[in-house]
Amino acid sequence: MGTIVNLDQVQAICVAGNWRQGGGDRYATLYPATGEAVTHLHAASLADVEEAIQGADRAFRTSGWAQRKPHERAAVLYRVAQLIRERSEELAQLQRLDNGKPITETRNLVASAAGTFQFFAAACETLEETITPTRGDHLSMSVYEPMGVVAAITPWNSPIASEAQKMAPALAAGNAVVVKPAEVTPLLALELAKICEQAGVPRGLISVLPGKGSVIGDAITLHPLVRRVSFTGGTTTGKHIAHIAADKMMPVSLELGGKSPTMVFDDADIDHAVAGVLYGIFSSSGESCIAGSRLFVAHGIYDSFMERLATGAARLRVGDPADDKTQMGPLITARHRETIESYVALGVEEGGRLRTGGMRPQGAAYERGNYYLPTIIEGVNNGQRICQEEIFGPVLVAMPFDNEADLIAQANDSVYALAAGIWTRDYKKAWRFGRAVQAGNVWINTYKQFSIATPFGGWRDSGLGREKGRLGILQYMEQKAMYWGMNELPLPWAGVEMM
Ligand code: NAD
Repeated sequence: MGTIVNLDQVQAICVAGNWRQGGGDRYATLYPATGEAVTHLHAASLADVEEAIQGADRAFRTSGWAQRKPHERAAVLYRVAQLIRERSEELAQLQRLDNGKPITETRNLVASAAGTFQFFAAACETLEETITPTRGDHLSMSVYEPMGVVAAITPWNSPIASEAQKMAPALAAGNAVVVKPAEVTPLLALELAKICEQAGVPRGLISVLPGKGSVIGDAITLHPLVRRVSFTGGTTTGKHIAHIAADKMMPVSLELGGKSPTMVFDDADIDHAVAGVLYGIFSSSGESCIAGSRLFVAHGIYDSFMERLATGAARLRVGDPADDKTQMGPLITARHRETIESYVALGVEEGGRLRTGGMRPQGAAYERGNYYLPTIIEGVNNGQRICQEEIFGPVLVAMPFDNEADLIAQANDSVYALAAGIWTRDYKKAWRFGRAVQAGNVWINTYKQFSIATPFGGWRDSGLGREKGRLGILQYMEQKAMYWGMNELPLPWAGVEMM
């Protein structure tokens, strides 16, 4: 095993502003392309969790962060965005090592993190509190307050972007944040915390606690001083967190899994649709909550479309994430690849036919990494497990459809409702289906495009609440009504006014 970063030094974690070795088990983070250790660190311990949350609470009460004027907090967040941009290539390379995504994708994630801090700085500066219509001789207002200590729990598939999406609005709102990154990808959250401190976020306001979700994540969620959890991850974990939140009467936002339908009509621009469907499922190696993983193609064009799609999938450049030309890197872990392989085997058992892929790529370049080929399965029906369960890998199931009623019924027949794609030149049809499909996000003649200004989230088992958008900052604030008496008279109570 070669040294990629610096294996002689144990990576410190951040416990209430103290950068030190975690109190938990030592482990190595691995580069998914080669299996080499990127760095060593000690996970957080339960004592670290306690210290981090107590420290966050203290920093919230005493650092003055919450009392700073919005434009002053915003200035610090703008500086965070600037520092991310100054270090963007270094961060993108570290992210590539941390989770094996192709460098072109990690550059985008880093840019997105900078944009998120910039956006929430602006949201903080421009957030308005309202004077509401009065029903008496008083002034009535609606104002917002920070919550105190909030937690951000993130998955391994888009580090830095996921953490920024939670940390930026939480800090903008005046809170302290305890971040629990995925155990296998802790490095970017740690870097982001360093950048925040360097930009002027008071020490102690941010902690980053890598470790097992069932231990560290659970302890954070259960802690009485944690007033809100913003979670991105699997639906099973999300439901578990929701149960704890119900007991604590704690607001949560849950960004969960998906099994998103993409619909290609016979009047679609086929070149665009082929490229869009390939990008929708195979970018990020399919390790994407919004992956367009269930494809429905109009019967009349099914054969010709699938021919082009399968050829396109087989031509995708799978390989070294450091190469600018790579389109699909390795999967996150060897274990995750096994899960995907067992799903492909299940699809075949259920009667599916492999149109392309269904195996690991061959050759020396792939031997040490967790690579898997872009895979398309046909001959299945929407009710089968392969079409209903989230695989979270480069596996597309494809089905023909006959008519509109049948299509929309199948597209909506899922416990998930995160995203959907529609490919047609007919704008009336696009409108009809765009409104009828049950999903938090709909892309028409495009896919996987985002704006930080547009709220994001899922329906049903895909989640609760929304992130991003100008009002995303309000998720991290409590709303308060204030009434100011505006006359000299006492309230007409118990005859007081007669005295
Ligand atoms: P996961 O649920 O296993 O883990 C997510 C995070 O939660 C990790 O930090 C993990 O350590 C932590 N965790 C695990 N158990 C916990 C517990 N009991 N209490 C508190 N925290 C706990 O998910 P994953 O495998 O890391 O990520 C893949 C999943 O994330 C997929 O289902 C994917 O669809 C989903 N995802 C959703 C979005 C979205 O925005 N909707 C984005 C990315 C990923």
